Amino acid sequence: MPPELRKLLATADALAAKAKGAVLSATRDIRKEILFLAGELNVAGSAEARESIFAQVTKRFAKLGKRLSALFTYMDETAVRRGGRAASESTGLEVKISPAHAKAVIAAVTKGGSARLAATMTRSMNDNIVSALRNATVSAFREQAVDGLTNDEMAKVLLQKWQAAAKDPANVQFVDRSGRVWDTETYINMNVRTNAMNVYNDVLVESIGKATGSDLVMVSSDGDADCRLCFPWEGRILSITGKTREFPTYEEAKAAGLFHPNCVHTLEPVDEELDADEVELQRNFPPPADMTPSAMDEQRYEIDINRKMMNEGLSLKEAKVAVDRDNLANAMREGLASGKADEVVAKLTDEQVNALCPNGNPPRFAPAKDNAGGEEWNRGSNGGVLYIDRKELTAERLVKVSGVEEGKPVRKPDIKVVRS
Ligand SMILES: [Zn+2]
Repeated sequence: MPPELRKLLATADALAAKAKGAVLSATRDIRKEILFLAGELNVAGSAEARESIFAQVTKRFAKLGKRLSALFTYMDETAVRRGGRAASESTGLEVKISPAHAKAVIAAVTKGGSARLAATMTRSMNDNIVSALRNATVSAFREQAVDGLTNDEMAKVLLQKWQAAAKDPANVQFVDRSGRVWDTETYINMNVRTNAMNVYNDVLVESIGKATGSDLVMVSSDGDADCRLCFPWEGRILSITGKTREFPTYEEAKAAGLFHPNCVHTLEPVDEELDADEVELQRNFPPPADMTPSAMDEQRYEIDINRKMMNEGLSLKEAKVAVDRDNLANAMREGLASGKADEVVAKLTDEQVNALCPNGNPPRFAPAKDNAGGEEWNRGSNGGVLYIDRKELTAERLVKVSGVEEGKPVRKPDIKVVRS
């Protein structure tokens, strides 16, 4: 990851913490104000008094929205600035970004802009707390009717119910458009980081295209376990404009799931001279019409095997086992967080590796304690899940648990060979 980008993410985290602080202190003030006004005004007897409190709450949330909007906008501008600098760093070219250009990039990335995000968040919190207070009022009136409370008793019950509603943290949580409830910090962090990365990628793509006239970029291979969606795309060459139809476009890749929320992958420039072999290789694998994760995964497998054949002079059979070993070790590292993955895989025979990667798909690894049946290999489609005791992980143990034996016939997938 370019140093400028690292700095950008650190800034994003710091900003998310600041935004969270603003949300916390604002909601605390709002609750206090509700409690104070509920005691002062005659909320039990007057609908007008209740409405005036709701109006106060709305005003406070609007103020919070403005503060968040300013923070998010600042972040977007920083993302564009740093994105430009990182693009200069990666390409060695001077990348100039005009304010108009910056605005266009931000508008394209944040869809509706950061101001709208801040407004959506605060409106959601506002609606939650107001509706909780309204519900509390309705239920207090119902109790009065059922239990025949006096007006004084009713006022007391209502105050208690309002206090409970105002104190409940669930009532000031952010609910997104699909109805999902978010912890404020998680949401802000996810959003700020994702926007920062997207702005960076967009600036990089635009500046590379403009400065070098090149149409190709490559997806980084960070190998982060949280980025399963991006795994099939790692190392893949993309076309910026779509004029090079042998490659998936940047937009198509995004539509297919690359650069999802919280993604740590990024783009790197392709040097058409230095990377000529890789470009040639990938040209042989035009994107499938439907870029599903499994279709892209299959292509990645074929490309990886062909790269091994090309760079290391391996036969198809040797290259396949070598790629399977890499993938198997990766799956083990991700699923078990084990530092022994490479060592264990090195001790397996080619046949065992083959049998552990049916059709080139290694199983997902998971600790045995997560499975009611203990250590076992649940072979579903695409390798299934292999449960194994994390601490006891050795090649012998793996062979025993998985039941793979020497010489067991394994169906080999058809691999398109570019040149042998
Ligand atoms: Zn990702």
